[in-house]
Amino acid sequence: MSVGQRAAAKLDEWVPKTRLGKMIQEGKITSVEEVFVSGLKISEPQIVDALIPDLQEEVINVNLVQKQTDAGEKSRFKAIVAVGNRDGYIGLGSGKASQVRNAIEKAAVAARLNIVPIKRGCGSWECGCGKPHSVPFQVEGKCGGVRVVIVPGPRGLGLVSSEVAKVILGLAGVKDLWMRSYGSTRTVPSYAYAIFDGLRKTYSLITQEDWVK
Ligand SMILES: [Zn+2]
Repeated sequence: MSVGQRAAAKLDEWVPKTRLGKMIQEGKITSVEEVFVSGLKISEPQIVDALIPDLQEEVINVNLVQKQTDAGEKSRFKAIVAVGNRDGYIGLGSGKASQVRNAIEKAAVAARLNIVPIKRGCGSWECGCGKPHSVPFQVEGKCGGVRVVIVPGPRGLGLVSSEVAKVILGLAGVKDLWMRSYGSTRTVPSYAYAIFDGLRKTYSLITQEDWVK
């Protein structure tokens, strides 16, 4: 059974514990947009599965982490999972467990709780089509020793970035951009979180143009 199927199965047995969860099950909130407008925190992963049925999931990275304890060396797996609907929503999460499968499962839950809307647009002066195929303006993201710069691109350009970045950007639903990265970009977890940080800034940075609208 895939993680997606498991999510669907869990949704059938879901007994909401939070006010937001109950509002969704009672049909008082029917879209993920309303959740973000309400400002209520998503603390149950089923909320995301209920409101975004076409949510997709990708394992970004799995590595072995060794830890020295009093009892000797302890090894666990750390997984990074990204979720998105390829239409403006992206989440990234990590999970640790002694088994790969459980680490992925935990990361998939964390990614759902961490989902955010991203703002898309045509920020490319070379394009100017006005359609939401790229990012609305240049954004920068950081995590650990990694910094990324996401630059709007013209329609048809595609994602000019690494394969890992393509997976995350694709899940978010942006199609044309350039991505430059600096620092220890081979550290996949920091690299992935830096991209996520950049994408979420499309919403936190409000431009003057938006105030006028
Ligand atoms: Zn355009």
